[in-house]
Amino acid sequence: MAIYNPKSLKAEEFINDEEIRETLAYAEANKNNVELIDQILEKARPQKTATGHICAGLTHREASVLLACEIPEKIEKMYQIAEEIKLAFYGNRIVIFAPLYLSNYCVNGCVYCPYHMKNKHIARKKLTQEEVKAEVIALQDLGHKRLAIEAGEDPVNNPIEYILECIKTIYSVHHKNGDIRRVNVNIAATTVENYRKLKEAGIGTYILFQETYHKQSYLELHPTGPKHDYAYHTEAMDRAMEGGIDDVGLGVLFGLELYKYEFAGLLMHAEHLEAVHGVGPHTISVPRLKRADDIDPNQFDNGIDDETFAQITACIHLAVPYTGLIISTRESEQVRSKLLRLGISQVSGGSRTSVGGYAGYTPEERPHDTEQFEVSDQRSLDEVVCWLMENGHIPSFCTACYREGRTGDRFMSLCKSGQILNCCHPNALMTLSEYLEDYASAKTKEVGYEMVEKELKRIPKDKVREIATQNIEAIKASNRRDFRF
Ligand code: SAM
Repeated sequence: MAIYNPKSLKAEEFINDEEIRETLAYAEANKNNVELIDQILEKARPQKTATGHICAGLTHREASVLLACEIPEKIEKMYQIAEEIKLAFYGNRIVIFAPLYLSNYCVNGCVYCPYHMKNKHIARKKLTQEEVKAEVIALQDLGHKRLAIEAGEDPVNNPIEYILECIKTIYSVHHKNGDIRRVNVNIAATTVENYRKLKEAGIGTYILFQETYHKQSYLELHPTGPKHDYAYHTEAMDRAMEGGIDDVGLGVLFGLELYKYEFAGLLMHAEHLEAVHGVGPHTISVPRLKRADDIDPNQFDNGIDDETFAQITACIHLAVPYTGLIISTRESEQVRSKLLRLGISQVSGGSRTSVGGYAGYTPEERPHDTEQFEVSDQRSLDEVVCWLMENGHIPSFCTACYREGRTGDRFMSLCKSGQILNCCHPNALMTLSEYLEDYASAKTKEVGYEMVEKELKRIPKDKVREIATQNIEAIKASNRRDFRF
């Protein structure tokens, strides 16, 4: 039987079924242990240091106790601490991105995904380079600077060479004042050599959802195709890091398995990356299973309600406070509103989940023929940006960190040293000003500049504040763009 070892490179040793089961039993036994819960909450709370804040984070066992806890006042406390952590390390910024679907050809048999090979009624489509360009122009016209590219797994139709060519095309398009400055990649698990090629192509984060950490369920949910190989999939992030990719993004698809099991597995995966590579995941996504062509989410037994979903999000934030949390348009405005306060730092906006869903469509129109799943938040990017600001969040189009080499542990140390307000905060305000000048509606522009004025005053260093103010004036008066600290 596999023995639990977070430093092992073997999937079944760092995501160890026995350890997860023991963790769940421990959490269940202690879910009303108020003294222990208080101790864990105290450990999670950010502590002030001379230069900023520091957070201890939580182990998968400690965080699992919090997730099992059903005492309303304690859950409220978790939410409060999650908000404190978010503000201490990230401030009130929310980074904006959009998915770009390149191809829905897929040779896998994932039973929850409409791209599964047996689905004969979904239209199959792969963008040509001309179509990629058209999509990127449409995305730039909306104001996007950061994309997550998505593709099914198909070595013939979407080989790595195709993905690399698309990345090159995306970075080459400069339409009006627009450009895409960071391409994150969500493609199937691959080899160290291919990860090295992605790194050389200048990608940001490599994202791969585990879907489920429960091996038996994983095998049943992925009955055919290369994705059936649980170890190959689970060990992908180690290969990505070996290939030189510093920033990796984890996630599970909530709804497939029991959420407490997934939660413990996810945190064990984060602990493993930290133990082996010295840096945890850059991001964690929290997607929930959605209705899609040939997919009825009610056929899966493990759906979670909005309250549980909020508690999961807050507990992840308490456990891995330096990891960015991503929520997509799978979730409604209402759910996103609540989660934004609990540690979410990135949201998508104006998203299309179909291949070729941006070019040639108005913000209200959305093609469904090649769609991966139904989007709940159907608002335009402009509406999302305005809504964020009206709720006190700064929408940020910043991509500076990875372009300045602040990835992996260098990004984490920026976070820990409390320099966010002198670095990420002004970058957010400058990129927001670019958005307001080039793409915003009159109303968003008005709300936006009010926010920029107010937030500029919060930059602690006089010199930084002065430069940021000058740069914003230059953005307003000219076509000069892409200022960054
Ligand atoms: N082919 C890549 C892979 O195997 O990881 C990229 C996958 S896909 C384009 C991105 C993610 O969409 C998947 O990892 C899965 O979690 C999610 N997904 C698939 N079907 C879904 C559904 N019905 N509802 C919500 N998310 C879904």
